[in-house]
Amino acid sequence: MSNLGQTRHFTVELGTAPQPARVTLVGAGPGDPELLTLKAARVLAAARIVLYDHLVSKEVLKLVPPGVDLVYVGKESSHHTLPQEDIIELMLRLARSGRPVVRLKGGDPYTFGRGGEEAQALAEAGVPFEVIPGISAAQGAAACAGIPLTHRDHASSVQWVTGHLRAGAPEAVNLDWPALVRPRQTLVVYMGLTSLPILSAQLIHHGMDPQTPAALVERATLPTQRTLVGSLQSLPSLAREHEVCSPALILIGSVVNLRRVLAPEAEAADRASLDQAQGLLATI
Ligand code: SAH
Repeated sequence: MSNLGQTRHFTVELGTAPQPARVTLVGAGPGDPELLTLKAARVLAAARIVLYDHLVSKEVLKLVPPGVDLVYVGKESSHHTLPQEDIIELMLRLARSGRPVVRLKGGDPYTFGRGGEEAQALAEAGVPFEVIPGISAAQGAAACAGIPLTHRDHASSVQWVTGHLRAGAPEAVNLDWPALVRPRQTLVVYMGLTSLPILSAQLIHHGMDPQTPAALVERATLPTQRTLVGSLQSLPSLAREHEVCSPALILIGSVVNLRRVLAPEAEAADRASLDQAQGLLATI
């Protein structure tokens, strides 16, 4: 989903204005541009310079009017176009030079993705800022895949956790496993694709039933969205066999079974494609 090719033009005047301009951290939602808030759409339409991440969809970027400086600052787990400190530094320099900045971030700015750190740096530097919330991947994936996050018969709480591995070290998935395996809750794992085998093994090791329903939603809310449904135990091999790519979200819990009722056609299509893939694998 890299949008590197989208950067239009970018010139920084390094002057210092009497007052810093405002930075607006805008949630771009999970991909479908219709899931932007009205406020986000209004701010984008009036933007002068937009700094955006790799998770912001091309469809959302199309809403940025021509002539606006559109700057890709990247940030994929293994490929940082600009390190986080440099993104912050760039925002600060632009704001101090009197240029209002729109910082467009995938999903919701305050849900993973380090928006909190960016806001903190702005606050500490005395730069005025505003945060416009966005629909997070969990909400987008849940709605599109037919998997409610809570349901009175299944889950009375939901935990959003990150499966991000620090420098690929397995021991660095530092989660509160006993809290994650409690019954009657839904587990949503962001950035969990690489660590999925470790997550699955650790949850089972800490007592979660290996047959607990689990799903992977790839590119949620985009036309190319794909959902794979299996169990806690089978999900890592499903992800491998079907070459699931980032961005993908993992949903674990009995709410996943509701997909059969809430998205029956999609569920039947998943089943057919899984059967076909298994047939293909069997013939290799
Ligand atoms: N701020 C974002 C999350 C950033 S962390 C939000 O609120 O959604 C990046 C992770 O979010 C990805 O690794 C993936 O797990 C998840 N993600 C973001 N967009 C997604 C999408 N369209 N489909 C599935 N997962 C997505």
